[in-house]
Amino acid sequence: MRTLIAANWKMHLTRSQASGTAKELVGQLEGNLPADREVLILPPFTSLEAVSGAIAGKSGFSLGAQDFYPAEEGAYTGEVSPSMLLDAGCGYALAGHSERRHFFRESDELVAEKLVYGLEKGLHMILCVGETLEERKSNAVKEVLSRQLRSALDGERVQNALATGLSVAYEPVWAIGTGEVARPEDIREAHAMVRQELTALLSGKGEQTGILYGGSVKPDNISQILGIDNVNGVLVGGASLKADSFSAIARG
Ligand code: PEP
Repeated sequence: MRTLIAANWKMHLTRSQASGTAKELVGQLEGNLPADREVLILPPFTSLEAVSGAIAGKSGFSLGAQDFYPAEEGAYTGEVSPSMLLDAGCGYALAGHSERRHFFRESDELVAEKLVYGLEKGLHMILCVGETLEERKSNAVKEVLSRQLRSALDGERVQNALATGLSVAYEPVWAIGTGEVARPEDIREAHAMVRQELTALLSGKGEQTGILYGGSVKPDNISQILGIDNVNGVLVGGASLKADSFSAIARG
């Protein structure tokens, strides 16, 4: 399984900044990336083309989107479809990021629809799951992860669409953008829970599904995080916005 090092740029960087950062990343990482690593950049929609141009033909680099609406086309003002993302060069997309779940009130049902629709359209989907601090304090981590995974992955439609690729990102909400990293034992325990659910839900494919960790990943904690059982990559927000720190993470 390849180790996926993903940069979630959220609502940051203009086209020229995005292109410049992507070119710097290519300059720093081309030929320096371990063979089993893949660098994925998830810029805002407006910078997809700029980043696509910067990484074109560079091995080990991929492009993805942070979101989409699950329909082919239509009267959905403000939205972008998976077909449009594929046309823009995307191979990947996120579903269920905690910022979408919390700021934009995306339900488990909408996340599930996005996940299966994106898979059916041919995107490699990264399903984000994770508990809030209150849920952790009330010992509900397993229950929350099970609910989020089962609501998105249970069912024949998903089973039939898995060929295009699925990863799961475990991102404890309290560790996203806060500088607070989950303890290695918490990451190990949560990733083991996710692996167990995946094995139960995805007949035969649970073991091959990558599980990423996300939450204040930095150059100084990446090697420890990647050494934890069932951690198959990372999803990085803040530290992915500067080429120097993200390339250190990608090499780490
Ligand atoms: C994220 O947005 O998925 C994330 C993990 O952000 P940060 O690295 O800034 O915590």
